[in-house]
Amino acid sequence: MTTHQAIAFIGLGNMGGPMAANLAKAGHRVGAFDLSADALAKAREQGVRVAASAAEAVEGADVVVSMLPASRHVEALYLGDPDAGGESRGLLARLGAGALVIDCSTIAPASAKKVAQVAAARGLAMIDAPVSGGTAGATAGTLTFIVGGEADALERARPLLQAMGKNIFHMGGAGAGQVAKLCNNMALGVIMAVTGEALALGAAHGLDAKVLSQMMAVSTGRSWATEVCNPWPGVLDNAPASRGYTGGFGSDLMLKDLGLAVEAAMGIGATIPLGELARNLYALNRSAGRGGLDFSSVVKLVAA
Ligand code: NAD
Repeated sequence: MTTHQAIAFIGLGNMGGPMAANLAKAGHRVGAFDLSADALAKAREQGVRVAASAAEAVEGADVVVSMLPASRHVEALYLGDPDAGGESRGLLARLGAGALVIDCSTIAPASAKKVAQVAAARGLAMIDAPVSGGTAGATAGTLTFIVGGEADALERARPLLQAMGKNIFHMGGAGAGQVAKLCNNMALGVIMAVTGEALALGAAHGLDAKVLSQMMAVSTGRSWATEVCNPWPGVLDNAPASRGYTGGFGSDLMLKDLGLAVEAAMGIGATIPLGELARNLYALNRSAGRGGLDFSSVVKLVAA
């Protein structure tokens, strides 16, 4: 039987919003905070109690879950904001003894380790638990959690992760979840770019991109990019490409993840030629003004 817990959820964007809603649906007491008034309003509609600040959200919380854009947001939230001149105390200093911290954001492995070390020094359990599955997976509660941290912290988190997802992989100690997530996203970034390129080549030869995609989806060129998030408008009604590349996984977030993969590779002298090329493609997509659109808009670099 699942014990219902008091959960503070910080970051209610495309992913965090539906994840918090699923925790509330599972019967947990969720108090949430986001800097965006729009995100707060949407969360309220989903039965999530909204707090006036992150500090208020964590008052009396057993567990904190965060889903923020990047390393700097996560470090500022938990460790405090260095730009605030010591004015702003991070959440780790506010949490009660025995609280569990679950960070689901995709951030640098080094950053995840740094926050986990401070948490451990304060006697708090922490896991990095970045996710895969996109906004559709977040809404349906079918995310894959890719976890780094101590096994007993993961066991405490497991029932909550199961309320938001379907698959859980324990990759190793603190930061290992982030390394694994970057490996996955590097593959995804390359596959999306090359799928767009293949569809553009076919279309330039007069092929119907929908039929080409249907063929590829049952052939060896098959992938999540052909079947679920096809980059060609009109191929899949539910894909971001068919709604002007809105919603979904931001191109700038993919650029961030590929930058983290490049950093992680450089840190140990590993070679990732396609990952580096893909990072440049998403940087060009940003320069073309599409950083805020779904990452499948990278197809526009080669499509008319
Ligand atoms: P998003 O930009 O939609 O949401 C991030 C939210 O965090 C925003 O609502 C923002 O207002 C809020 N925020 C930022 N700083 C804050 C702070 N200090 N306090 C409170 N709220 C704050 O991003 P997203 O798509 O939900 O992605 C979140 C994370 O999940 C990223 O690390 C991303 O790489 C990862 N991710 C995204 C997807 C996807 O498909 N969107 C899939 C897997 C992983």
